[in-house]
Amino acid sequence: MSVDIKAETSSSSKNQKKSVKRRLLTVTALLLCVLTAVASYIFIVSSNTVKAPDTGSEELVAIDETTAEEQLTTTVETGPRQFTDNEFKIFFNNLLQSNTERVVNPPKITDDILADEYIRKVAEDRGYRLRSVVNDTQLLLQVDTELGAASAQPRAADAWVQLEASLSREGIDMRLTSVYRSVSEQLDVFLNQLAFEGVNIAQITNGSQDDKLEKVLATSAPPGYSKHHSGYGFDFFCPGFEFRNFKNSTCHEFLVADNYQAAKDYGFIPSYPSETDLQGPDPEAWEYIWVGSERLIN
Ligand SMILES: [Zn+2]
Repeated sequence: MSVDIKAETSSSSKNQKKSVKRRLLTVTALLLCVLTAVASYIFIVSSNTVKAPDTGSEELVAIDETTAEEQLTTTVETGPRQFTDNEFKIFFNNLLQSNTERVVNPPKITDDILADEYIRKVAEDRGYRLRSVVNDTQLLLQVDTELGAASAQPRAADAWVQLEASLSREGIDMRLTSVYRSVSEQLDVFLNQLAFEGVNIAQITNGSQDDKLEKVLATSAPPGYSKHHSGYGFDFFCPGFEFRNFKNSTCHEFLVADNYQAAKDYGFIPSYPSETDLQGPDPEAWEYIWVGSERLIN
């Protein structure tokens, strides 16, 4: 009997030990679960924190202002700032101008999401990039063009009037054909060009329309990708010269002399100069962007 009791006691103590072990295991497992959950939470929160700045238009304003300030305060010598064609491109790409905001979500082009993605990919491979659009169109001023009244950002409109007068004093007549163009107007232009070249949207993603698409993109930006959306892009026209032959005109000759001094004096820079790689469309000698003369001096 006593043996039995001993055996029982020993068996019960073994059971107790097993039970304590089991509990320890359960607690350890629970602790591991809690730690994993906490670690995952911290990871998710930290990755969201990294992703957060993609709303960044304010940041771009800050960059713009810093750049402008640096240009004005850190350079001792003053004088016209010299640019290569490629430097004009880089300089403009880093600007965010007043009364504009960056396009973050690319606008719809066709009714086919995959076709749109394909078009954007081909466009971006050529150097097109999403641009800025006017914030408040009420602030725009009217300017005369060969195609009727157009809108422009106020300081750019004033600068245009002065530039036009300066050319006039040299006996050169220069006019405008296009300034501000909304995203939906650009969509119409782009769709018309796709239709004109006979691009088959349904077949676009298999690459069979690439040649036609490239032809369209050589002259027309997809909606969201045009510098005209900002109200700072100007298309000049020199009477006596066909629009696309601006490069051979007296207007062009006057504007480009001495690293575009006549244009820079009034705050204009070439939008798509010829010696630039991957800028989107083929060079467009007639298009200028107003950036402000204060940014164009050292
Ligand atoms: Zn243009």
